[in-house]
Amino acid sequence: MKGKNQDLSFNSIKNNRFRFKCYKGIKCFTKCCKDLNLILTPYDILRLKIRLHCSSETFLEDYTETRMDQRSRFPMVYLKMRNDEEKTCPFVSQDGCAVYEDRPGACRIYPVGRAATKPDGKRDTTERFFMVAENHCLGFQEEKEWTIDEWMGNEGMDIYNAMNDQWMEIITSAKDLGPKDHVAQKIKMFYMASYNLDRFREFILKSGFLNRFEVESKVEELANDDIKLMLLAFKWLKFSLFGEKSLKMK
Ligand code: SF4
Ligand code: SF4
Repeated sequence: MKGKNQDLSFNSIKNNRFRFKCYKGIKCFTKCCKDLNLILTPYDILRLKIRLHCSSETFLEDYTETRMDQRSRFPMVYLKMRNDEEKTCPFVSQDGCAVYEDRPGACRIYPVGRAATKPDGKRDTTERFFMVAENHCLGFQEEKEWTIDEWMGNEGMDIYNAMNDQWMEIITSAKDLGPKDHVAQKIKMFYMASYNLDRFREFILKSGFLNRFEVESKVEELANDDIKLMLLAFKWLKFSLFGEKSLKMK
């Protein structure tokens, strides 16, 4: 991938090649779509709420549950499984994934796992890849062979990785959240700017935010372009949570 260091030394991907094929008709079809602990990233949520033609708020209420992550100190949003015996994914059907083109990054990249790190916030992101081979998955017995780059391209991972990496810089930051009595408010800000993009848009456009901060994007762009808005949300979080100079005050 351009501009990034790839470290393929994880022993289970030999010579940067692996065999895998998933298709309707394979015996294990959709076995992987149940009882999952699937964390949704801001970009996953954006894609899914557009796909489902609902607001971020409705999506969060209907399809997710939130748990605090002690390691990152931030709330993580999980895709809520159905309340059936097998705890199936709300989007799985007999024909497969009903949101296939907009399925979460974790579903797209499987069976590859990707760990991205950016040690000091300045150097290029370093990627490590490994295989996530589940026992029930028969896709590994197929002949089709891939390189990591081919797989990432085939699964449309570039935009997911680009957006998720920016957010990872926030949730993996070692920086302090400041005085204790500010933390609860900061957690609320994190939740809104990360997951409820519609609410963040309202906040940006109606709260005087644009009078206080220098923002590259024009008002119309922030009103209509979800990606530009999400990138602004990440900058604002770095500024507000950690006091980084990611935004300039007027
Ligand atoms: S278990 Fe593996 S091969 Fe089977 S449907 Fe899921 S990803 Fe595809
Ligand atoms: S979103 Fe789609 S691919 Fe992912 S678990 Fe649900 S049904 Fe399966």
